Amino acid sequence: NGEINANSVYTEEILSNFPLCTKNLFNALKENHHLRYTGRQQLSLFLKGIGLSADEALQFWQDAFTRDGHISVEKYDKEYKYNFRHNYGLQGSRINYKPWDCRTILSKPRPARGEYHGCPYRDWNADKLASELQSMNLSSGQITSVLDSCEKSEFTVACTKTFEFTHKDQDTFNGEVTDQSHIAHPNLYFEKSRQLQK
Ligand code: SF4
Repeated sequence: NGEINANSVYTEEILSNFPLCTKNLFNALKENHHLRYTGRQQLSLFLKGIGLSADEALQFWQDAFTRDGHISVEKYDKEYKYNFRHNYGLQGSRINYKPWDCRTILSKPRPARGEYHGCPYRDWNADKLASELQSMNLSSGQITSVLDSCEKSEFTVACTKTFEFTHKDQDTFNGEVTDQSHIAHPNLYFEKSRQLQK
């Protein structure tokens, strides 16, 4: 029924609405049972923003890190749990942290090897990005249009184009991103996508 919880975030119904930055983090977490600090922050605050409650988030992260015995629950409790409780304002300074917008994401140091935070429209090379966009069924003309924006360092415009090309406007979208259609927050991408799905 579309409720966001520790299990439903793994379903296609939810995952299909993630922008590329979030999809990238999520896939890396699934594959490695781990994310380094900045990636944990970016993904956990995004998930909080889509409505994952504190209890469900703690379950989600514990499962993700300890799955297949990757690390023990004890080690998770000792080294990582605090971080996720902190993001929900349950620990430490008790600030209720907000999900990061694209500007915040783009202001962090770029991901080093083994890190997955950041924005793929900035951080991936053109070949990798093009093949990802192809797997999302963009035409070669559409891919060129997205890559053009990346080259001009207009990463959120590139992301908005991808949104338009993969959603309802794909037949009518003329490649112009307006102030109204511009997406500059991963959570806005999610919300808009989810609305069209309903
Ligand atoms: Fe994520 Fe923003 Fe980059 Fe899109 S433009 S992939 S929402 S950081």
